[in-house]
Amino acid sequence: MQNTILLVEDEKGLLDSLSTELGFENYNVICAADGLSALDQFQKNKEKINLILLDWMLPKLDGLGVLRRIRKESQVPVIMLTARNYIGDKVAGLDGGADDYITKPFEIEELLARIRVAIRRVEKQTFKNDEIYKIENLILNTKTHQVLQNDKKIQLTQREFTLLKTLFEHQNEVMTRDEILDIVWGKDFLGDPNIVDVYIRLLRNKLECPDKKKLIKTIRGVGYSLSNEK
Ligand code: CA
Repeated sequence: MQNTILLVEDEKGLLDSLSTELGFENYNVICAADGLSALDQFQKNKEKINLILLDWMLPKLDGLGVLRRIRKESQVPVIMLTARNYIGDKVAGLDGGADDYITKPFEIEELLARIRVAIRRVEKQTFKNDEIYKIENLILNTKTHQVLQNDKKIQLTQREFTLLKTLFEHQNEVMTRDEILDIVWGKDFLGDPNIVDVYIRLLRNKLECPDKKKLIKTIRGVGYSLSNEK
């Protein structure tokens, strides 16, 4: 999906070159050259804006003013562009709710990297708020704490649920027994690491009919993997 960036910058040369570069990177760019038109563009396009690049020194309303107004209604990631390498600005910007700042002049590659990080962070959060995992006929919903297989509710203990959720979070990866132990039982766990194997067996018994292919696979000498590969 194409991400949209609201780019607010009053230096025309910089506005043009950034807009071109972001376009090359396949971002959809909306431009504004002063603080008030930035707010205006934000209101018109807030449903689709994924990130705002906001210059600090702007005509009509400065970047901090823009940021404060936007923060009253939105948590969209904001990266401040500041010309002055002045620590007070950075503190004020971060206090005002900026996610990141970059000091001019900057390398475009660095800016692009920060944009990717900021957008990815939001994508992760969005995903986490809506945690429904699915593999084949098996669904795990972390909001309702339910596990369904073929639309039938499966009763799991808290530990079994956490174990299955952990495997879902690393779907198609191989997890070692130690990794599973750290996440599900905690790093302080002092008991027998074979507890992992015991719980995997319990889960398998609850989840899988004997004639079905196994979703939780044993990777010999390594650990386990939740995957629908053969
Ligand atoms: Ca400026």
